[in-house]
Amino acid sequence: KSGLWQGGGWVPVGYDYVDGRLVPNPVRAAAVKEIYARFLRGDAITSIKNAINKKYALDFADTTVRSALMHRLYVGDIVWMGKVYKGQHEPLVDAETYARAQARLRDRSRIAASKPNPFRPRTLLAGLLYCENCGTRYTLKGNYSGHGSKKRYYPYYYCYSRAKKSPRMVTDPTCMNPVYAVEKLDRFVVEEVRRVATDQHEFDAVVAAGRPDSLSRRRAASDAGTAIMHRLDEIDHQTARLLDLYQRGHAIDEIASRLDAMEEEKKALQASLKDLQGSQKEEELGHLEPERAHKLLTEFIAAVDGDAPMETRRQLLFSLIEKIIVKRTKGDFDIYWKF
Ligand SMILES: [Zn+2]
Repeated sequence: KSGLWQGGGWVPVGYDYVDGRLVPNPVRAAAVKEIYARFLRGDAITSIKNAINKKYALDFADTTVRSALMHRLYVGDIVWMGKVYKGQHEPLVDAETYARAQARLRDRSRIAASKPNPFRPRTLLAGLLYCENCGTRYTLKGNYSGHGSKKRYYPYYYCYSRAKKSPRMVTDPTCMNPVYAVEKLDRFVVEEVRRVATDQHEFDAVVAAGRPDSLSRRRAASDAGTAIMHRLDEIDHQTARLLDLYQRGHAIDEIASRLDAMEEEKKALQASLKDLQGSQKEEELGHLEPERAHKLLTEFIAAVDGDAPMETRRQLLFSLIEKIIVKRTKGDFDIYWKF
């Protein structure tokens, strides 16, 4: 509260710690100022790091650059236990530069968040498809082709093991379960639903088949939920310990990257837990009476034929189908209806 640095052994990049005070270090302070200047003119974090390290003979990591851009310390404040105090040290950047850097950081994270991701699906079937071979969900992965105004994004459904986007999600690195173009598979499933919606025999067959495995699935879901909550507790505990080390001045870069990694894992776990709880709730509430199912089927087909928004179609489809197992044989699927 006195505005003096309380960081313990760790001294923030750009300063020296002299007689209980933070004093700008000529070389490193210049490096911090240049980090801001380069960031605001549009340079990427890694290229800033490389340029700074070369010019000032330093050894900064990406996380050093990123935390230099975020830390209120450089604008003259001290943050202690979540509260901001006016510091007694000399700022390295002015308030406007700092504010512009924060705005640019926010834009960057908004752009990153708007990229297709499994928790923010944009296609009809994202979130419904599971791999028969390795058991993981299907995710979207695509590529661009064409040039200029003809450039287009072609999305495909891949099982997570095969997509290899996220090592954490790979359960079988050799999985070769089929890959489908989004457009094709969406159309195929729509036609399946149309068949059940319009053919009374098909509809009766689905009702008669029932859902024999629903009890064992409920049990498995509850076990998975317990495991996830246990891991979340562990992460909170480890995070608290790391923050403690951080306050006492231990290796900031290493701690920052471990905190990042745990934050990412925590987000993924919370999303899975939400999915799981959602599906458990649906399991309880989700069994459809045939009459209701028939009405939803008709609504879904009307939504598709009437070109209704994707979210409307998805909601209707998700109320009818619990999941679709993508079989090992190309073109073969198991649809788990909710009625
Ligand atoms: Zn697979």
